[in-house]
Amino acid sequence: MKYYDENTLIYLDGSYVKAFATGLDLYTQALHYGYGAFEGLRAYNTHNGPRIFKALEHFERLEKSCEAINIPYTWDNRELIDRAYELLSINNLRSAYIRPLVFSGSNMHLTSSTEARIMMAAWEWGPYLGQNLLKVEISDIQRPSSKAFPISSKISGQYINSILASSKAIKNGYDEALLLDQDGYVAQASSENLFIEKDFKLYTPPIQNIFPGITRKNVILICKKLGIELIEKRLTVQDIHEADSAFLSGTAAEIIGIKQVDHIIYKEDWEHTIGASIQRRYKNLVLENENYEVII
Ligand code: PMP
Repeated sequence: MKYYDENTLIYLDGSYVKAFATGLDLYTQALHYGYGAFEGLRAYNTHNGPRIFKALEHFERLEKSCEAINIPYTWDNRELIDRAYELLSINNLRSAYIRPLVFSGSNMHLTSSTEARIMMAAWEWGPYLGQNLLKVEISDIQRPSSKAFPISSKISGQYINSILASSKAIKNGYDEALLLDQDGYVAQASSENLFIEKDFKLYTPPIQNIFPGITRKNVILICKKLGIELIEKRLTVQDIHEADSAFLSGTAAEIIGIKQVDHIIYKEDWEHTIGASIQRRYKNLVLENENYEVII
């Protein structure tokens, strides 16, 4: 259905303007119901020029996210990658965060969208959680249940949960939140995956009730290459409190160490942890440093 024509007026930020003239579709389900899907990619200024890390994997995940919520996805992913490089070039960006967003068309019903649009933006963005070791709290806000929501998809509406948890953590004097899953195990941070180190082994929650991060996958690959034992296992709050060290992984945050969880301060010096080796290795991987294997 059509919600407005060339005569329709809407109220916008204190004035009445033509619905057509806003340049925005204010009737999109994305705005009202969070019915959209997005991705977060990073381009790095490598010696091979600006390179988007795992671009195809990110766009394929965007396509899957749309499929999971029945938003039509009519774009060719390789074409979108070309557009992303173009976007960097026309904005003179050599390293950047890239945000594609697929949003549904006009529809005020709670029914699947039959049309969709895509936008893509890029901007310079340092590591999302900064470069200092983090203080995190175990949040009393739980991740959405996998029975209620396709939690392995990057769906706009789901991020209300992340916003609530991270802003509560910040209000409580922490940098980020760790959220429990529907079964009471520690799942992940508001927008990063979690790894802990205990007795020279790494542990991370299995895919089951977490968002399957692309950075997480690359950490696992790095562990394989370095011969680090990594165990995918459900983790309790006690496991997190009794760990030797811990870190988060995500495209925006990259690899960032944790120094404190709730009132517990990890004793291990970050620079001597497995996480620190992985952090260095990841940096070399995204920068396409040829000798990254020996610079760890
Ligand atoms: N969890 C959530 C909820 C996320 O939104 C993200 C991505 N921002 C991640 C984890 C990390 O995923 P990736 O490594 O693919 O960026």
